[in-house]
Amino acid sequence: MSKTLGGACLCGGIEYEVTDPEGMGVCHCTRCQRWTGSSLTGVLVSPANFEVTKGADLVRRYESEFAPRQFCGNCGSSLYDDLGEKYYVAAGLMRELDLTPEFHLQVAFKAPWEVIGDDAPQFDENPPA
Ligand SMILES: [Zn+2]
Ligand SMILES: [Zn+2]
Repeated sequence: MSKTLGGACLCGGIEYEVTDPEGMGVCHCTRCQRWTGSSLTGVLVSPANFEVTKGADLVRRYESEFAPRQFCGNCGSSLYDDLGEKYYVAAGLMRELDLTPEFHLQVAFKAPWEVIGDDAPQFDENPPA
């Protein structure tokens, strides 16, 4: 059975739907820290299962040599990280989300003040493929 989650940015200008989320994890890399102000808890989804339903003209893209980052051009909310085969969609924008984190990535780079409080597996960098 497919499951659809709605998400909205801080200003409400952008709304989107995520169908069949494939899992949730927390990325502690310095790029995510700079992008969000902290670690980034995200939901993995196939690009085909991510749809902007309102405000597509507000979506901005920060190009970078790694995964480009999509955000709201009005309020600055972090939307998703484009990993190519998957999108890593910021969990905080989806209010009905009932998943729990299944992994922690890039833990070697986490902020010293951040305390990981769950039992999900931790990886210094990325999990082995
Ligand atoms: Zn916004
Ligand atoms: Zn990251």
